[in-house]
Amino acid sequence: MQQHADAKEGYPDCIIFFRLGDFYEMFGDDAVVVSRELDLTLTSRNKGKTDEIPMAGLPHHAAHAYIARLMRKGFKVAVCEQMADPKTVKGIVPRQVVRVITPGTWTDSPDLPQSENQWLCAVHEHENCFGLSLFDLTTSELLAAEVSDLASVLSEISRARPLEILLPANIQFREAVESVANQAQIRNDDEITPEESDKVLFGIESEVIAGPALYAAARCLRFARACYQEKTFPIWRIASWNPSGILGLDQSAQRHLELVESTVAEKKATLFAVINRSCSAPGSRLLRRRLLAPLTDVRLISQRQDQVEAFVGSHNVRTKVRAKLSELPDLERLAVRASLFELNPKDLGKVRDGLHAAESCFLSLSGLESKAAKLALKADSPPDFSPELRNRLDRSLVAAPPANSKEGAIFQNEFDAELDGYMRLRTSGSERIAAFEDELRHSTKISNLKVKSTRVFGWYIEVPKSQLGRVPEHFKRKQTVASGERYTLNDLDEIAEEIESAEENFRSRELALLRELYEQAAQAAQAFHRLASVLAHLDVAACLAEVAVDFDYVRPVVDESDELEIIEGRHPVVERLAAAGRFVPNDVSLRAREQHLWLISGPNMAGKSTFLRQVALIAILAQMGSFVPAQKARIGVFDRVLSRVGASDNLAGGESTFMVEMRETAEILHSATSRSLVILDEVGRGTSTYDGLSIAWAVAEHLDQLVRCRALFATHYHELTELGETSPSAANYCVSAKQHKGEIVFLHRVQKGAASRSYGVEVARLAGIPEGVLCRARGLLERYEKGQADSVAQVTAADTAGAQLDFFGNAGATASEKEAIATLRALDLERMTSLESLQLLTKLQKLLQS
Ligand code: ADP
Ligand code: MG
Repeated sequence: MQQHADAKEGYPDCIIFFRLGDFYEMFGDDAVVVSRELDLTLTSRNKGKTDEIPMAGLPHHAAHAYIARLMRKGFKVAVCEQMADPKTVKGIVPRQVVRVITPGTWTDSPDLPQSENQWLCAVHEHENCFGLSLFDLTTSELLAAEVSDLASVLSEISRARPLEILLPANIQFREAVESVANQAQIRNDDEITPEESDKVLFGIESEVIAGPALYAAARCLRFARACYQEKTFPIWRIASWNPSGILGLDQSAQRHLELVESTVAEKKATLFAVINRSCSAPGSRLLRRRLLAPLTDVRLISQRQDQVEAFVGSHNVRTKVRAKLSELPDLERLAVRASLFELNPKDLGKVRDGLHAAESCFLSLSGLESKAAKLALKADSPPDFSPELRNRLDRSLVAAPPANSKEGAIFQNEFDAELDGYMRLRTSGSERIAAFEDELRHSTKISNLKVKSTRVFGWYIEVPKSQLGRVPEHFKRKQTVASGERYTLNDLDEIAEEIESAEENFRSRELALLRELYEQAAQAAQAFHRLASVLAHLDVAACLAEVAVDFDYVRPVVDESDELEIIEGRHPVVERLAAAGRFVPNDVSLRAREQHLWLISGPNMAGKSTFLRQVALIAILAQMGSFVPAQKARIGVFDRVLSRVGASDNLAGGESTFMVEMRETAEILHSATSRSLVILDEVGRGTSTYDGLSIAWAVAEHLDQLVRCRALFATHYHELTELGETSPSAANYCVSAKQHKGEIVFLHRVQKGAASRSYGVEVARLAGIPEGVLCRARGLLERYEKGQADSVAQVTAADTAGAQLDFFGNAGATASEKEAIATLRALDLERMTSLESLQLLTKLQKLLQS
């Protein structure tokens, strides 16, 4: 228990997984915590004695699943292992903490997502300047950036979606970070001095990065190293990234546009899921990163488009390259494990096959016909395929080596003379045993005598009970078993010894050869890590080309203009899923300063939200370098895409959705510039009619006249269309629907003009609202439109005084009809949200149907 106390003292903030044989045991407070969090049985050690202590345990082979649960709940785990084989140690087995596991450093989780980076993030603050660093231990990518304001720190964090964030302990903005952290664990990180930072980063190549960015990188690395204890983690270089060259996409935009995560249960309904036709794991990670970080530099965007176009133009080459890419293992993660000496023979086989596939991939590129295509894909400058390592693996390994190095059968015959020699001795040994057995049976006339071996007892001769009388004098008794007696002979001992030593020599030779290969793989790791990154780029280009061809996308013109012109644009996800095969394309044309705001009206379900999102998604696709779902598109590059959905479209959230909606809208108004794309979907819906309308109006006006950015505003407030009529830079559009044989048909077509305001009443009729109620509604509407009243109360009062509508005057009204009428009269519409009115309407209808 002293060992446990030592471990706990060294890692007081961790749960100690204390290895005892085949179990990890937790003691004391740790045991109480895990028994509660993991539903483990709580027992105790030294029961009834004065030093009784709570205890809980779990089998070591199942530890991963438990660790995963603890990670999700925010715990840190310290794994305390036995440092020697208990069989060979007298007394207490030495034990030591070998790993600290946290969400951001857990590289050997069994369900590591293939297409996602596992970022650990660190923030460094220095005189109002920030360093930001991201480190994926599974792929050994270390990125660092310097940013000048907190907003960029927050937006980069929400873009990267790290698993764990290290913040300086005294930082002021912890809460702000928490708000964008998703599920990430946030930890306090000690200060770091310049000397310490230099020491941590010593010997690591880095792009031109200075100051706070380097400190942040050093923080990441310091934390990772502390978790890995003795093991030295491979860091080949620190790459810089420049947040100001990236399209702004904050958390709500990512969510509303469903880029990588869907708000509905349907997991496939994301842009990432639709365009991810990549063939390799590093390719899918790169694609996902690009999707969340589109560019703003038109030159770089056009380079990426050239790469996609190169593959679009050559079907054959694309197919061949993709076939080869599909054979690739995750070379990036293999490279990291290679340099940690964590490969097994099967992994070596994967590396070998991967290096071959990589080379054929580049050979296929030579089939590209156009010079431009070759240039775009750098087909003429193939990377390093680690030929030495590959030759060695080719000559040594069998076709499909086992994962477990103890299983043998790893090396080819004739690869190593010494190994073959031991192999022959082993085989001849077993032949000699067989011959020896034959001979004994013959000489003793015991036909069922057997020569066998067990691991503990070695070789022996076994004679069944019934034949014991025939056993010759010189047989030496070894052991009695239920079925008979076991003997040995000097001759047998001799053969056994030879076999055993051949076996042992074979094993140790095999291990020595393996170690050499591991050594060589570790040396080549950096080279095939780089190769992996080149292949990932190729994979993404080929994937986007495949998407472009299969889904009929075009190359958009992305330039510095302030236009947004999309002809026959489609929503990339809806056209594949909800409306597959019957999607109606739509145009959009916005020009900053001239006509940059479209107010879009139309009944529910017409397609307003879909249209808004499709425009934003097309802009994002274009700026990440992809082709886009349209017939033609020209996009003046955006600096950020801002998107908000009114609260009632977002009911799942619970809490005060209106507050959230307003906070998000405020953010838009603060951060939008004239180069931004703003998408506002029914903003103002979360409050009562007049509040909502006024807010929506003010927001639209502000965007239109002050920000002057390209914006789309979907609204159910008919009144807002007045803005479209009065402001020269705003225009009214509507998504049409028509009636056909008593049914409403949504045409999903965006047209100039405002929607007819009676649509609401029409939809209500189709929904089955009784004619009397509709009639009344139309009457009210008419008065409103004539401006004879500015509140429903006034209209109602006027009506009550004058002639009553049929329905209301109906003396034969039933009790429920009367109740419905009374309820209607008593309403205070100004204080109702549209959701409440909808609920009420449902209630009224039920009343009248009963
Ligand atoms: P609104 O926001 O106007 O209420 P949505 O954009 O949510 O309407 O669209 C409602 C449904 O109509 C979508 O789920 C989709 O299936 C379908 N839809 C929308 N736009 C189109 C379109 N252009 N072509 C075909 N179907 C569409
Ligand atoms: Mg909508």
